[in-house]
Amino acid sequence: MSTVEQQLDDLKAEITSELPNDISVSSVKYEGPELVVYTRDPKKFAQQGDLVRKLASKLRKRITIRPDPSVLSRPNEAREEIMGVIPEEAGVTDLDFHADTGEVVIEAEKPGMVIGRHGSTLRDITKNVGWTPEVVRTPPIESSTVSNVRSFLKQERDERRDILEKVGRQIHREEMSDDEYVRITTLGCCREVGRASFILSTPETRILVDCGDKPGAEGEVPYLHAPEALGAGPQTIDAVVLTHAHLDHSALIPLLFKYGYDGPIYCTEPTRDLMGLLTLDYLDVAAKEGRAPPYESEQVREAIKHTIPLEYGDVTDIAPDVKLTFHNAGHILGSAVSHFHIGDGLYNVAFSGDIHYDDTRLFNGAVNDFPRVETLVLESTYGGRNDYQTDQQDSEEKLKEVINKTHEKGGKVVIPAFAVGRSQEIMLVIEEAMRSGDIPSMPVHLDGMIWEATAIHTTYPEYLRDDLRDRIFHDDENPFLAEEFNHIDAGEEERQDVADGGPCIVLSTSGMVTGGPIMSWLGHIGPDPDSTLVFVGYQAQGTLGRRIQSGWDEIPTSEVGAMGNNGGGRGTLSLNMDVETVDGFSGHADRAGLENFVKTMNPRPEKVLCVHGDERSTQDLSSALYHDYNMRTFAPKNLETFRFL
Ligand SMILES: [Zn+2]
Repeated sequence: MSTVEQQLDDLKAEITSELPNDISVSSVKYEGPELVVYTRDPKKFAQQGDLVRKLASKLRKRITIRPDPSVLSRPNEAREEIMGVIPEEAGVTDLDFHADTGEVVIEAEKPGMVIGRHGSTLRDITKNVGWTPEVVRTPPIESSTVSNVRSFLKQERDERRDILEKVGRQIHREEMSDDEYVRITTLGCCREVGRASFILSTPETRILVDCGDKPGAEGEVPYLHAPEALGAGPQTIDAVVLTHAHLDHSALIPLLFKYGYDGPIYCTEPTRDLMGLLTLDYLDVAAKEGRAPPYESEQVREAIKHTIPLEYGDVTDIAPDVKLTFHNAGHILGSAVSHFHIGDGLYNVAFSGDIHYDDTRLFNGAVNDFPRVETLVLESTYGGRNDYQTDQQDSEEKLKEVINKTHEKGGKVVIPAFAVGRSQEIMLVIEEAMRSGDIPSMPVHLDGMIWEATAIHTTYPEYLRDDLRDRIFHDDENPFLAEEFNHIDAGEEERQDVADGGPCIVLSTSGMVTGGPIMSWLGHIGPDPDSTLVFVGYQAQGTLGRRIQSGWDEIPTSEVGAMGNNGGGRGTLSLNMDVETVDGFSGHADRAGLENFVKTMNPRPEKVLCVHGDERSTQDLSSALYHDYNMRTFAPKNLETFRFL
């Protein structure tokens, strides 16, 4: 008998002895990090609300109770009873019964009302019908990404359970080594921005943290073939942890499956969905630009199938000697500071991923409170000594001024923006300004992936700033449903109509004017001297956005491309519109934010690795932290290995 079988047998005996005599255990199984307990008495289990919590703390495991299939009531009968228990206002849109696991997935507009106070309604459901309920939110704005991911996972349910069972056995295998060390190897994003990737290793375990591309340098991928990484074979990696969905952290995750990795990916649920959206778009863009994509959409599906979503604050076993906990990073939807607890109190490492220290309209500021942490791996995008950003309040005032000035002239405001994060932040600023009368009410057109990304945001309000979350819970106050917002979904004809119409605001991808519908908007509105182009995000060297920002006003029509009505022919497009830059809406902490993150961190780490910034930024930040807080700091290069223990 394998050791995992033995362990499960022992657990079954222990659980049985902890339970009252009239509650039976038919089997116990690992599914990923969870211990699943099947019982013929699910109703009795549910009657004793505290039982699961007590078991979990006694066994120090995450425990899920499921009914033994033999005792399940028929779905038709169960459906009626369940609907009788859930208050009507919950707005249930779908019930999906899975007899193999005894789970019923309830999709509702107000999941909170299905859950009830401290889970009371959920327990009532099990008490009545025996099935184990699982609740998901019906997106207030329909999202094709969310519905595609959900139906794909439903379709792949059987295979997914096999994957989870296999992962579960891996996690709970017996530790082989009695050696002790903790090492981090840098595979990318050191003294550069982009291709984030690290290996965290112990004698027992190897974990890959992030696997991104380098924007503007397609060939430069992380050093995945280093002996520390996949060099020893893809099966030697225990787990992949993804801090957030931006492509410079996620783009090459699907590539791992092409190389033969078939283990778990840990990230938050919104990160999983956004990764799906962004990597599929990444393949699309590569195809349009005539580049051979590094992998196919099949591998994106594999990545989604292998994802084990975790919520902020869940302490989760991901290897025999490693526990992972995600915390809000304040950067984009679902972004996570990833905390690793290694061994039993042996060592603790936190990877910041990308962070925003202060609250923004969308998110609470990054969490920097941990039970313990000895080493911090810290992003340094704005770590340079002069990298201070404009205060967000001042930026908002300036944006409103520009909108008012343009409106008075009868012009249109065109804002190139990234689909994820900045767009929603700007939408919130505009919505509030209109509501309070700071700017006149006018249509706000959303083009490119912005609408879809916004829909994903509204699916996961738990991940947004608390006051925004509360507003989304009340439909009539959901700012993203404001009537001014219009989804451009009818293509060129609709754009032409907007261009021919009155004052309005257009938010469109791509954020650096490197392609996408923004090119078409420039074609339509660029020649109008009464309109204004407003940059709200960083424009990288070499992008059309940067050139326009620094004064270019004759754009070759080949750049505007076939999408614009002026495109296609030879010659140039005269950009007569005003060009303004409003910074201060960044999703990254500036230099002050990064220092504050470390300064107020509890507990303060002994060592800091400054990564994910250009050479000057990482070195500036590293030396400042060393001098100001007297900690050991490093600005590593790629392919360095640090031993911490
Ligand atoms: Zn990012």
